[in-house]
Amino acid sequence: MSFNTQHAASYYAATARDAAPYPSLDGELTADVCVVGGGLTGVNTALELAERGLSVVLLEGRRIGWGASGRNGGQLIRGIGHDVSGFARYVGQDGVRYLKQAGIDSVALVAERIARYGIACDLRWGFCELANTPAQFAAFKDEQDDLAALGYRHATRLVGAGQLNEIVASDQYAGGLVDMGSGHLHPLDLVQGEARAAHGMGVRLFEQSPVLRIEHGPTVTLHTARGKVRASSLVLGCNAHLDELEPRLSGKVLPAGSYVVATEPLPEALARTLIPQNMALCDQKVGLDYYRLTADRRLLFGGACHYSGRDPKDIAAYMRPKVLKVFPQLANVRIDFQWGGMIGITANRFPQVGRLSQHPNVYYAQGYSGHGLNVTHWTAKLLAESIALGHSHGLDVFSAVPHLTFPGGKALRSPLLALGMLWYRLREALG
Ligand SMILES: Cc1cc2nc3c(=O)[nH]c(=O)nc-3n(C[C@H](O)[C@H](O)[C@H](O)COP(=O)(O)OP(=O)(O)OC[C@H]3O[C@@H](n4cnc5c(N)ncnc54)[C@H](O)[C@@H]3O)c2cc1C
Repeated sequence: MSFNTQHAASYYAATARDAAPYPSLDGELTADVCVVGGGLTGVNTALELAERGLSVVLLEGRRIGWGASGRNGGQLIRGIGHDVSGFARYVGQDGVRYLKQAGIDSVALVAERIARYGIACDLRWGFCELANTPAQFAAFKDEQDDLAALGYRHATRLVGAGQLNEIVASDQYAGGLVDMGSGHLHPLDLVQGEARAAHGMGVRLFEQSPVLRIEHGPTVTLHTARGKVRASSLVLGCNAHLDELEPRLSGKVLPAGSYVVATEPLPEALARTLIPQNMALCDQKVGLDYYRLTADRRLLFGGACHYSGRDPKDIAAYMRPKVLKVFPQLANVRIDFQWGGMIGITANRFPQVGRLSQHPNVYYAQGYSGHGLNVTHWTAKLLAESIALGHSHGLDVFSAVPHLTFPGGKALRSPLLALGMLWYRLREALG
């Protein structure tokens, strides 16, 4: 829980619709399941468990959505965030097909949840993946064919550089792939809305209640400063913020900082020329740029991936050149909000979902490597299925992909990864 980048300065925290607090834990409780972490993973696991009739206590160290879930780019994009074809040797061709389908169905699951619980979170459909190079644009054709082969039911469209002004007023790109089955939303409103839904289903939620210690056994006991929870199963949904609570898992995820700014509200005409169809946009660079308009017409622009553990002193000054490179026409526009968040990166960029081999009643999902809005909902469903039914085919597929531990322990894993990323950036720069 060491990370402290300005949450209060985030656009989301300033505009959240439902920030009413939950109490902190004071006393002793029992439940079928205790969930630790009040981000999208934890909240959705709790909600799925409650929907299946289990009693649940959720403990969050700060506030619901305080971590990546309430700070992210808000881009709801299909896929697991990684080309999963390379995992055939672990999961077979059927497993690869399952993972590709899960990348699509997980977006539908978010939309269903929003509709079912009436969550107001500014959901808009439309996303365009942007190619930085002609070779990347050519590869979009394969991606489009792959989607068609899966029976993808949403419109997709390749847009050449000459027509790209219909989508984004920038001359930086070699083309784009439009996907009307992905989109964008206000992520803090989403996770807080889902927490409210879970609360309505009987989940007992506690904020400002960091778990300090886990006592393992057939009944697991979670200790906070002023309370205890006893449960038959435990779910850890702490992602990049897990720290030393469970070192067997924290060594598998590298926390990396990503940074976001939001401008002042743009005049309607300017907003309409900048991103005429109000899509989410994301490029292909290693430390990628991702951006979109908010419901009140601000440009919300994120990027970078810092492994050093040190945030830029002035996030707005750090991000402004990135914004202006894409949109030089915004030179005189004010930045109203700046913040950062922690991404949990894994060595193979694939999320880790499973159970601790030493303690099979301890479940976890973590390491979405920057692509978690949809995937958290899917992993939550798999965890709940597994706990409630004793088995989940999807969990078996996900957990067959190895959960690698970063070499070098806490002190070395960050510099080693920074070196690796430098290598990728160098390759990118050399073309
Ligand atoms: C800047 C940024 C931009 C991103 N943009 C996108 C995007 O546009 N699209 C997308 O799909 N994904 C994006 N992501 C990734 C996505 O936000 C994450 O994958 C997802 O939110 C992870 O959710 P989570 O619940 O697993 O973790 P988190 O949301 O980080 O939640 C973990 C929670 O655990 C709590 N916790 C930790 N330790 C304890 C403890 N001991 N006791 C109690 N509670 C504890 C923390 O306080 C925290 O609230 C982005 C991430 C960042 C940081």
